[in-house]
Amino acid sequence: MKSIIQNETCMKTILFLLIFLTTALIQDNSSVNVYRIETETGIEIYAENSNIYPVTVEYMVDYKNLKPNRELPLVQVLQSNSEQKLMVFEYSNLSEGWDYSSRYRYYMGDISVRHYDSFAYRLPFPIGEEYLLTQGFNGAFSHQGELPHALDFAMPEGTPIYAARHGKVVMMEEGNSKGGPTAEFMEYANFITVMHDDGTFADYSHLKHRGVNVRVGQNVRTGQLIGYSGATGFATGPHLHFVVKKAKRGGGFISIPVRFATRQGIKELQAGETYIGY
Ligand SMILES: [Zn+2]
Repeated sequence: MKSIIQNETCMKTILFLLIFLTTALIQDNSSVNVYRIETETGIEIYAENSNIYPVTVEYMVDYKNLKPNRELPLVQVLQSNSEQKLMVFEYSNLSEGWDYSSRYRYYMGDISVRHYDSFAYRLPFPIGEEYLLTQGFNGAFSHQGELPHALDFAMPEGTPIYAARHGKVVMMEEGNSKGGPTAEFMEYANFITVMHDDGTFADYSHLKHRGVNVRVGQNVRTGQLIGYSGATGFATGPHLHFVVKKAKRGGGFISIPVRFATRQGIKELQAGETYIGY
């Protein structure tokens, strides 16, 4: 009887090893990896994030004859370019073997961050130049859905765009040249995403073809030239779409209403008003 159990356990181990190797191979190209190491007393779970921004990982497990040291499902933030031990499962009845089957998903950003609300953003265009805010927070044309706290500044193609707040460039695209007034053009937007020191992100979108002046990983200071406006993506004409956002639990983002330094003081910008670079 004992040998049968041992054989079963052995088969199970081989099966798991096969599954583990297959998953390991499949996930090899992924920027986030959750993997396990079997020890004499249990299973150790590790997670690795090779992105230059933090991610939030959700980890779910079905198990038998194992004792987890943390509550499941697990929601854990992984810092940029980091590796950490997530948790440990102790064998609770080795003679009967054990079962373990896990899955995970992850999304960009740290869900626990808080926006530094007193920061006064810099208007993202040249000092002394005046531009109309065509859409403000909750704008009826396209600022209703997922990220309502966005701003659209109408400006001619090629207007220099300056960082509204210091941070690190974590994503960018400048290879697109298409734009149009319907949602199917959305994927063709050129953009820059800057991560701020409080863990929030700013998107600068619709930049012109080859209109990005910075590279991923670069630190930018407030007021630094980062690109040039355009009309790529879902856009009825040339404008800059600007939004500050943070990671949302479950995936996606929450937009944040931010305030700008203007000639009239620090304020929330209103659609239909013009603003002078300051
Ligand atoms: Zn917009």
